[in-house]
Amino acid sequence: MIKHGNKVVDTIFVHCSATRKDWMDDKPLAAKVAEIKKWHLANGWKDIGYHWIIDRDGQRMRGRVENVVGSHVAGHNTGSIGICLIGGHGSNENDPFEKNFTPQQDEALRDLIEDIKNRTEIEKVRGHSEVAAKACPGFNVTRWFDRKTPHKKLSESTTMRAGAVQLVSGAGAAATSIAAFDGKAQIIALVFVGVAALATIWIMRERIRKWVREEGEDA
Ligand SMILES: [Zn+2]
Repeated sequence: MIKHGNKVVDTIFVHCSATRKDWMDDKPLAAKVAEIKKWHLANGWKDIGYHWIIDRDGQRMRGRVENVVGSHVAGHNTGSIGICLIGGHGSNENDPFEKNFTPQQDEALRDLIEDIKNRTEIEKVRGHSEVAAKACPGFNVTRWFDRKTPHKKLSESTTMRAGAVQLVSGAGAAATSIAAFDGKAQIIALVFVGVAALATIWIMRERIRKWVREEGEDA
């Protein structure tokens, strides 16, 4: 359990350094961390504000010790761990992760979150922009985090399956009973079945649409 005083650390905030893609790219991560620390000390802070920094190549380095309150998100520092991704210059709060960061950073950030979860009970992984009028970290963290839990495939959806079963068994039952009628009654029954089938298809269509919409929100 990681604690800040009496408060258990239960939140992770993701940030970016707002530096260009090629910023100090001939220098080791330690030099970049030292540079960021210099900025933060110039703010009058006692140390680098973040607990972790992840470089463009996925390498990570510790900043402030985890059980010391950081300086990365005004009003939410106590009880949270701050992770900074190198990069993100000119990004917007809802950019796709890939636009400003590398696949190595994607993997490294997920790994680091898992590691922290082994040390303390994390309830929320959030972006700085969720609690401040800032673009940082330059992507929607909640959406990015949920991406690893993809929606079920259409064929695996239980509501869709139940709908299809309904459609097929309904048609079978209707065919059996229509065969028992004769003449005019048979035609009337067929019209009824036709209308019922159309209604069912319409409902299925709505379900497919809803499913597609839900799927789209993850993109
Ligand atoms: Zn930030």
